[in-house]
Amino acid sequence: MWRGVVAAYLSVRGRSGSVDVWDSIVIGAGQGGLAASYFLNQRGVDHLVLDSNPRPGGAWQHRWDSLTMHEVHGVADLPGDPAPGRSSERANVAVPNYFADYEQRHELRVVRPVEVTEVTSAGALLVVHAGERAWRTRTLVNATGTWTSPNWPRYPGAEVFRGEQFHTATYPGPEYLRGKRIIVVGAGASAVQFIGELAPIADVAWVTRRPPVWRTEEFGPQTGLQIVTEVEKRVVAGLPPSSVVGATGLMLRAHEQEAAELGAYDDPLPIFERLVPEGAQWADGTVEAADTILWATGFRSAVDHLEPLGLRGPLGGIPLERVPGNVQAATTAVHDRRVHLIGYGPSASTIGASRAARRAALEVAQQVTDRAS
Ligand SMILES: Cc1cc2nc3c(=O)[nH]c(=O)nc-3n(C[C@H](O)[C@H](O)[C@H](O)COP(=O)(O)OP(=O)(O)OC[C@H]3O[C@@H](n4cnc5c(N)ncnc54)[C@H](O)[C@@H]3O)c2cc1C
Repeated sequence: MWRGVVAAYLSVRGRSGSVDVWDSIVIGAGQGGLAASYFLNQRGVDHLVLDSNPRPGGAWQHRWDSLTMHEVHGVADLPGDPAPGRSSERANVAVPNYFADYEQRHELRVVRPVEVTEVTSAGALLVVHAGERAWRTRTLVNATGTWTSPNWPRYPGAEVFRGEQFHTATYPGPEYLRGKRIIVVGAGASAVQFIGELAPIADVAWVTRRPPVWRTEEFGPQTGLQIVTEVEKRVVAGLPPSSVVGATGLMLRAHEQEAAELGAYDDPLPIFERLVPEGAQWADGTVEAADTILWATGFRSAVDHLEPLGLRGPLGGIPLERVPGNVQAATTAVHDRRVHLIGYGPSASTIGASRAARRAALEVAQQVTDRAS
């Protein structure tokens, strides 16, 4: 009932031309956005969450069906409620259910589906636009993740290739690809997972731009801290962020052993030069025939809607303010301190997003209080 009342109230209150001004608007209702909303509520900050998805679950609702809670790296807790643990349940069911319960239990004010098209500055206020609708706010927490911004490299010949092409974001699952000749492109965890389930049932060739980096030991907190620290340095310096999750190194798990025994991970091919109608071609003229190219080539931060604010520095990234002693707490945009980014750079993991959300809420609460006094 509460949700229906809220949706009706908020859509009226948020219309363009409304005289109301929010203390904060959160964009995105994934791990980062929900955690931010929780902490903003704790601090009494009047805010709304806008999310482009029709349902709760952030990017997790779009993960492929064969990804179970055994295969994910691990989903960190949202503040105050334990996340689902390892199980054979589909990640695209378990995590969205967790998020949906969380939104209800903590009475988070999420309006969906609302796709923010741009954020502009109007004097002391920011204006969040979604088509004809607009919300005015004193501060902004951006938590839009990466899923809606797939990194899909375009090689010459992409348009003449006669087969099908998919990205991780559109992976159709193993049954669809059974018996096909598939080229998997990419040296990250998604490529390893896809090969694990495809090699036993299809003819798979693995192609990588750089040699894959294998890890022989379980991933510990010390390694995690090192990786996050490196990403934080890049972001503070104003460089485009590298991926935290992608930098953890690759390790085969039990369900990938069959593919390993088939030699599917041995000696990946270097990246091809172009696509041709029947497959991929290398500079020496060699052609690998394929029915399908699967681009497991990662994602970029989904921040195009922030372009009007001019947050980027000359090196192409959005520089964030460093917080000494806490590498995941860099959230405040250097070029506009009203804007806070979480799930960006060092906080682009479920644990990082939750931690960054706490910091962003603290900053927002201080900024709102400072303006009021
Ligand atoms: C394939 C894959 C597997 C991963 N596995 C793990 C893992 O096992 N463990 C881990 O810790 N991390 C993992 N990550 C990283 C992790 O998913 C994210 O870093 C983490 O969930 C942070 O969530 P988020 O809130 O930043 O983003 P998301 O969960 O992506 O949520 C962002 C939300 O914002 C919405 N949105 C985007 N643009 C707009 C817009 N313009 N207007 C309105 N709404 C918008 C989206 O629709 C979405 O609902 C994985 C990432 C990928 C791509």
